[in-house]
Amino acid sequence: MKKPKIDGERLWASLMDMGRIGATPGGGSGRIALTDLDREARDVFVDWSREAGCAVRIDRMGNIFARRAGTDDARPPVMTGSHLDTQPLGGKFDGVYGVLAGLEVVRTLNDASIETEAPIDVVVWTDEEGVRFQSSMIASGIFAGMYDLDHGLSSADSNGNTMGGELERIGYAGPEPVGGYPIDAFFEAHIEQGPLLESEGKSVGVVLGAQGKRCFRVTVEGEEGHAGTLPMDQRRDALLGAARMIDAVNHVAFSHQPRPVITVGAIRARPNSPNTISGRTEFTIDSRHPDGDLLAAIGDDLRRVCAEIVDEAGLGLNVEQSTHRPTVTFDPSCITAIREAAEERGISHRDIYSAAGHDACNISLCAPTGMIFVPCENGISHNEKENAKPEDLAAGCDVLLGAVLGRANRENRR
Ligand SMILES: [Zn+2]
Repeated sequence: MKKPKIDGERLWASLMDMGRIGATPGGGSGRIALTDLDREARDVFVDWSREAGCAVRIDRMGNIFARRAGTDDARPPVMTGSHLDTQPLGGKFDGVYGVLAGLEVVRTLNDASIETEAPIDVVVWTDEEGVRFQSSMIASGIFAGMYDLDHGLSSADSNGNTMGGELERIGYAGPEPVGGYPIDAFFEAHIEQGPLLESEGKSVGVVLGAQGKRCFRVTVEGEEGHAGTLPMDQRRDALLGAARMIDAVNHVAFSHQPRPVITVGAIRARPNSPNTISGRTEFTIDSRHPDGDLLAAIGDDLRRVCAEIVDEAGLGLNVEQSTHRPTVTFDPSCITAIREAAEERGISHRDIYSAAGHDACNISLCAPTGMIFVPCENGISHNEKENAKPEDLAAGCDVLLGAVLGRANRENRR
């Protein structure tokens, strides 16, 4: 049987139409979560979904689910989607692509009169970006059971407006409970937001997981002294120790394969005076890698190189882990479904890890999950200049169609 194909031009036109809501002068979109512009984008999605024959449900976090019925609606849904909110000066593709690719899958199945056994839900997750309420991916997190509903609804912006209040105001405080029911699988299509696919000329990234993150706060203790009177060989200079550590920390990144990313992004010297030797310097380390065991080993190395430097210099040291975001491993059967859908359609692909967090990372805690990446121009994202090629977006959507179809019609395991 000939494989159904999505309509790339229709997908592109929908992306451009959605991008006009909150259009920015530089060609991007600015639709911060739960603003009037977010409501406008949601309304358009709901209209388009109903026109495509979907029944729309909204939960108490404002997550929208557009359902295309299956022949066996007792089966758990196959879910796909992403987010419609953006950064203040964001692009037209981050998140929006995943939502509209899901809708394009539904439209394609309608056009071809293809029924599926399991229902298909196209989801819009509320506030993925976390710009306004400082709470990225919170609604998918509540769906996955990571946080309480009250925690989400009471999160407030800088003016004291809560998410719960703003959901009421824009008419998206729905009646449905948030999560708590089985999902057959969740697939999220997304632009890569990095340079790998474009530089290798691949149309699709089969996402294996997302890298974890360990952050540390390092405090180096020395002794304050007069910059003019204390001889060089009698100093315990905390800032100099920190400088040596920063260089050593950078070398740790290059000593591991596959290579992690390690960043020292903030430093504070005390008393921060031009003519006083620093008695205490604090700096941060941000380390990230897709392999959790290797990330832990990297953390040990970071502590070791810092300790070696204080021993030499007669300084004191405290290294405290401030953040640990575990690595995410997507479901092997979902990964295979995506890879096979690409193979069957002759679409070039490679395995890849996500460097950023996505709603799919949260949903992977409560359902078998996979992600499909497509290249974006120069790897630029969170930027008005964000861009992607229509043919790559279409290829990713065809892979999504294949993965969703395969899952929705697979042997009923109930
Ligand atoms: Zn996104």
